[in-house]
Amino acid sequence: MFGLSKLFSSKSVQKQPIIAALAAYRSAAFAVGIDEKFIDSISENDDKSLQITLSLPFAAQSEMPLVELHLSDALNIAVSIKSKVDIKEPAKFKGIKHIVLIASGKGGVGKSTTAVNLAGALKAEGAKVGILDADIYGPSIPMLLGLVGAEPKTKDNKQLQPFYANGIKAQSIGFLVPSDDATVWRGPMASGALSQLLNETDWGELDYLIVDMPPGTGDIQLTMSQKVPASGTVIVTTPQDLALADAQKGIAMFNKVNVPVLGLIENMSHYICSHCGEANHVFGKEGAQKLAHKHGVPVLSHIPLAIDIREYSEQGKLIANDNNAAISKTYSAAARLIASTLYYQQHHNSIEIVISED
Ligand code: ADP
Repeated sequence: MFGLSKLFSSKSVQKQPIIAALAAYRSAAFAVGIDEKFIDSISENDDKSLQITLSLPFAAQSEMPLVELHLSDALNIAVSIKSKVDIKEPAKFKGIKHIVLIASGKGGVGKSTTAVNLAGALKAEGAKVGILDADIYGPSIPMLLGLVGAEPKTKDNKQLQPFYANGIKAQSIGFLVPSDDATVWRGPMASGALSQLLNETDWGELDYLIVDMPPGTGDIQLTMSQKVPASGTVIVTTPQDLALADAQKGIAMFNKVNVPVLGLIENMSHYICSHCGEANHVFGKEGAQKLAHKHGVPVLSHIPLAIDIREYSEQGKLIANDNNAAISKTYSAAARLIASTLYYQQHHNSIEIVISED
């Protein structure tokens, strides 16, 4: 790999137009373009095409083919990009750079399904990812990752080893506590168990740890959110009025404990008719948008109600990682947007996030 000085002193490559074209690239995740400081090297191949290497400060590798197209168009030359994800921020908790809580005001809205697919999508975007299932009322991550019946193991009788599935490190409260016990848990007990699971699992180095929170906004959720050094939370809701009212309570709770709300995900947003292809808004329309607007947070994604999502889940497979499934693009767009929001919230205090309509 070339150092910047060597590279940019190269007479054959005109750097300014390339830097300008990268800066002009726009998308939901790259709302302020691609910064010059993400560039590791630019070189020219014998056939005059350009070879660019980038270190991305957030997980967004799947967008590089679009960036190549944009550059080829802008510069009128063939461009190929090699990228890696290199998050330079210091780890906030042990070797973990960002902890992201996935929460919901009420149960059954698809929080766990969304959490695990976001984790899979972030991994596919080039990040090191873990998922911690803290949903004491119905830990479903073991099922969603095909790990039902797996036994937790320890290393040297000290640290719990995370499970490894679909390239994601995973740990679940469901491996350790019979679910019937959870109904009698109180806030401090549950948050204690979460801290213990977080602390005593040998996560190693992670860019993102996704935490699947218990649904609701009671004592347990409040104490849990206070115990975890989270970079932010994503609130999953359906478009129904009741779910939205509970999502609103979720926003209020996270505001109270100063955990930034990165945005809402509207799950089961609409149903695409398999006959005519039309989108039907079974549970209502624009509710999440209005709620988000009221609280000054974005809607990060509209995920459709899709039979495939349920079927993959029941088989312990991640639909987000199946490139043949159209819905995988929705999850990867949401993952890139969450990753970039985490970056920009630290590096640009106020930028307008552009939300695409897909
Ligand atoms: P929660 O964690 O909020 O309780 P789950 O993720 O367990 O919800 O999802 C509840 C049920 O809804 C599961 O059967 C799941 O497969 C299904 N489900 C979740 N999201 C979708 C979706 N977008 N389309 C179809 N089924 C979904």
